Order: sequence, then C-alpha cells, then structure tokens
Amino acid sequence: MEVLVAGAGPAGLATAAGLAAAGHAVRVLERAPGLRRGGGAVTLTSGGTAALRALGVDVADLGRHLEGLDSRTDDGRPLLRVPLGDLGRRWGTPTTSVLRRTLLDRLAARLPDGALVTGAAVEEVEPHRRRPVVHRADGTSAAADVVVGADGERSPVRRCLRPGAVPARTGWTTWQGCSRVDHPLADGDRVLFMTGPAGFCDLQPAGDGLLQWSFSTPPGALPASTPAGAAAAALRERFGGWADPVPDVLAAVLGRPDDAAEGGPTGWDHRTAPVPAVWGAGAVTLVGDAAHVMPPSLGQGVNQALEDAHALSAALRGASARDVAALLRGYEARRARQVRPVALLAGSEQAITHRALSRGVMRSLPEAWALGLWAGMVRRSSAALSG
Ligand SMILES: Cc1cc2nc3c(=O)[nH]c(=O)nc-3n(C[C@H](O)[C@H](O)[C@H](O)COP(=O)(O)OP(=O)(O)OC[C@H]3O[C@@H](n4cnc5c(N)ncnc54)[C@H](O)[C@@H]3O)c2cc1C
Repeated sequence: MEVLVAGAGPAGLATAAGLAAAGHAVRVLERAPGLRRGGGAVTLTSGGTAALRALGVDVADLGRHLEGLDSRTDDGRPLLRVPLGDLGRRWGTPTTSVLRRTLLDRLAARLPDGALVTGAAVEEVEPHRRRPVVHRADGTSAAADVVVGADGERSPVRRCLRPGAVPARTGWTTWQGCSRVDHPLADGDRVLFMTGPAGFCDLQPAGDGLLQWSFSTPPGALPASTPAGAAAAALRERFGGWADPVPDVLAAVLGRPDDAAEGGPTGWDHRTAPVPAVWGAGAVTLVGDAAHVMPPSLGQGVNQALEDAHALSAALRGASARDVAALLRGYEARRARQVRPVALLAGSEQAITHRALSRGVMRSLPEAWALGLWAGMVRRSSAALSG
C-alpha cells in the first residue's frame, strides 16, 4: 500500500520504518526544514526498547542503560527504589536514557531513500474518500491508501478527524535542560527523582557526561511563558534549599548569570486529554502524541509513540487497501486499552503525590511493591512486551 505519514518525530519515523519493513511504500511529510533534533534525553523503558527492537533498531549500544530509579523527598528521605537493570535482564530488553536526536537519527536511518520530505506542512486531511487525500500548505495534494497523523500534540490531522478534541492544560510546568556537568550523577546509571511541596526534580545521566535535569512546578508557580532568565532565578530560589545533590546541580546548570542566555531552562506546560476508543476514520489513523497527549511525569510519551508504531506496523503486515479500515480500528482499540491507564496516571500522578507530600502522609514503599507497580505499568501499557 501507499502510506503517507504526517510528522517526523519519534512516532512518525518509527511508524514509517515499521511499515516500510512490512513492505509498504511510505512517505513522511515533515513541516520543519529538517528533523527537530533539539531537546534533551528521554527514558525508554523496557517496553520502548522492546518496540524499537521489533522495528529492527539495535538497542545494545543505545544511550546510557539504567540500573535503577531512586525516589526521595526534598529533605532526602528515601521513598522508593526500582531495580530497572534487574527488570531489563528479566525481560531481555533494557531501560535506557537516550538523547532525542540520537533516537531520531537511528529511526531515520531505517527509512528508504527519499522517503522523508521536509518543509512539507500538512494542512488538512479528507478521511472519507475511497483513498484519503492530504492537502499541504504549499497548495499541493496527494491521495494514499493509508494516512497516519504523527503530527504531535497539536495535530492538524486529529483536528480534521475530531475538531473538538483539544488537550487541556493541567497547570503543571516542567523546566528542563541537558548539560555537561562534572558530577557523579552524570556518569552514573541511576535516575534520581525528588519530590516536595515546591515541586519535582528529575536527574538522569544521558551518556557522554551529560545530565538531563528537570524541575516541575505546580499550577500557577512558573508557567512556560516566563522568560528563561527569570525562570532560572525562580528555580534557584524555589529548589535551592533541597537536600543533596539538588543545590550542586542547580549551581552547575543554572549558577552562572549567562546559563539562561545559553539556552537555559526550557519550559513545557503539561497537557492532557481523554484517550478515546476510536482515533481515526476510514483509512486515516493516529500515532504518538497526536493520538494520546499526556504529561511527562511518568516519561511515557516517546515510549507509547514507539509502541503505537510497532503495533500499527504489525497490524498492517500483509494487509491490502480493501481491509485496511477494519485493521486500523482494531489497532486503535487495542492500543487505547493499553494507553488509557498510563495516560490517566500520568495526568494525575503529580497532583496526588504533591497533595500527599504537602499533608505529610507520603511514606517509603518496600522495594518489592515499587518493582511490582513499575513492572505492572510498563507491561500493561506495552504492545511489544506482550508480543
Ligand atoms: C519535560 C519532558 C520530558 C519528557 N520525557 C520523556 C521521557 O523521558 N520518555 C518519554 O517517552 N517521553 C518523554 N516526553 C514526551 C515526548 O517528548 C513526546 O511525547 C514525544 O516527542 C511524542 O512524539 P511524537 O512523534 O508523537 O510527537 P512530536 O515529537 O511532537 O513530533 C511531531 C512532529 O510532527 C511535525 N509536525 C507538526 N505539525 C505538522 C504538520 N502540520 N505537517 C507536518 N509535520 C508536522 C513536528 O514538526 C514534529 O516533527 C517528555 C516530554 C517533556 C515535555
């Protein structure tokens, strides 16, 4: 079949790579003049790396493989530990922290020559034709057997399918960056997650001496519209009194007046939307953030995008244009069941944890419970791990 994919983020590239490997002729239309390689590192859970492996991407040397996740309160009391390395060895596929640009390059390398078209903005899709039609901003149009909207959280393709489905802000904001830092955390293999009434702090190695750092603030505190310099000062003020290693990290990444000018913290307002059972219409479907927007609190956005790509490629293996609509609705229903719980949890986790901390009712969790909860979330939201 001829497949047009709108958007060349992780979801679009992975979907195109999977469908090309399944024998279909793919073309990816990306609005930007090249791949959007900015941003720091993302955590790929065992579900995400299983999906990548199924798509033919080698993960053995991908990013920094992680051995554990440690969660502590802002005054340094342990809350939970998850042995990510043990879990990865049990499932035969690791948890890894990888730069977004490395992931995009690996996926793009699996596309057939000429499949990626940049500077090509999709404006509108007509799903109810025998072959859906894609209209581009430059005035050109093309029909295909299948159209996949992989055009992110503000998806123009989704707008044509469900005009009212606009993601809502939760009020939380994440300020993040990825910096070369002389600190043991940057060269280690553990994620540190700290929580307190001021918000959340997430620190993880990204390989090559880089530290991916983020600070999340509750509703009203520090929206993404705050200028970077003012945000850097506010983050130092807000999180500077936290236990080790937060003050050292703040001094290293936001300590100098020109840190903010050099790129400084980037703010990201969290958005969420209910995950419906049907995402598309006719021969048009969605993958990634276009299908399910969730806050980054559980680090699941890219993982679920890769899971969609794997599941959609498997659903369309050997398919012909005649039976494609039913196959797409089957893919959507299966993935909706897997994504919905994790999207709900990501949308409410910060507010619940924050309330529990503010009321002093947060307690340390035994390691076996923490492992069970994490493993359950990863497994239940994964098409690739469940085969
Ligand atoms: C602070 C933070 C931390 C995060 N950490 C993690 C993490 O650790 N692990 C994880 O899994 N996820 C994480 N995420 C989430 C992750 O970044 C997104 O969920 C992910 O990028 C979604 O991939 P996507 O391909 O669906 O969308 P995008 O990455 O948004 O890609 C969409 C693409 O479509 C293109 N496009 C848009 N409109 C058009 C158009 N009209 N025509 C053509 N092309 C178009 C865009 O230019 C872009 O290239 C995090 C997010 C944040 C904010």
